[in-house]
Amino acid sequence: LLDALVDQGALAIERVLLVEDMDKVKRTMEQDRLRSALLTSISHDLKTPLASVLGAASTMRDLAARLSDKEKLDLLATVIDESERLNRFIANLLDMTKLESGAIVPNAALHDVGEIIGSALRRASKILSSHRVSLELVPDLPMVVIDAVLFEQVLFNLLDNAAKYAPADSTIELRSRRDGPWVVLEVRDEGDGIPPEEAEHVFDKFYRVQKGDQVRPGTGLGLAISRGFVEAMHGRLTAGNRADRSGAVLTIRLPVPAQARPLDTAA
Ligand code: ADP
Repeated sequence: LLDALVDQGALAIERVLLVEDMDKVKRTMEQDRLRSALLTSISHDLKTPLASVLGAASTMRDLAARLSDKEKLDLLATVIDESERLNRFIANLLDMTKLESGAIVPNAALHDVGEIIGSALRRASKILSSHRVSLELVPDLPMVVIDAVLFEQVLFNLLDNAAKYAPADSTIELRSRRDGPWVVLEVRDEGDGIPPEEAEHVFDKFYRVQKGDQVRPGTGLGLAISRGFVEAMHGRLTAGNRADRSGAVLTIRLPVPAQARPLDTAA
């Protein structure tokens, strides 16, 4: 009897091990699949702008004698635009890698949100040139503890998206307010918005909302990096839609430093 029980036990253990092995194999296969999908996506994102740069540069070389000055300038503009796109993509990849390895350590200091919004808007002026920008900043907002460089990068990414996903000539609003222990900043646009079921996924690496045949340049990294940066500063970044009309709302919440809170709400 004892032998039989031992045999049965061994059989059960073997079965458990088999199931565990299968799970492990499945997990490894899934990781391999993800890794190779990631490599395909990265290679594609690197190759597309490079192909444009090579095309424009080769045309310049081969047809130099026959091109007008305007045509040459247009080709040069392509070389510059596409190189900038490559540059941004590589910078995004590096930021993502740094975030994942925990190498992003915010250089935190007290800052006035309005001032940082001002410098982000100046930096984004080129990409915002075909949109109207409306600023609604509540006066006397408390200062917040942030890394100015990281925060400006986040705002730039959100403004870049608003300009990309909302039609030309529409208005991009930047609003700030106080909400209890948070300073809240919203970037609101007049585009199609973000499907509610995708509102969390848009923060996944390389995730892009599928939209028919519309292809807009992008890497699907901007929001993942932005959320990582905001969380490194102890804040929150969420996506939603406007209630008054169609359009996305990206909301940043930053903690109000304890000494800036009235006594009854201080932690
Ligand atoms: P990218 O813009 O490079 O694709 P992001 O990580 O910045 O990557 O954004 C992920 C996805 O979220 C975008 O591909 C887009 O589908 C969606 N998205 C982001 N911002 C907006 C917006 N303001 N309006 C509509 N969709 C947006």
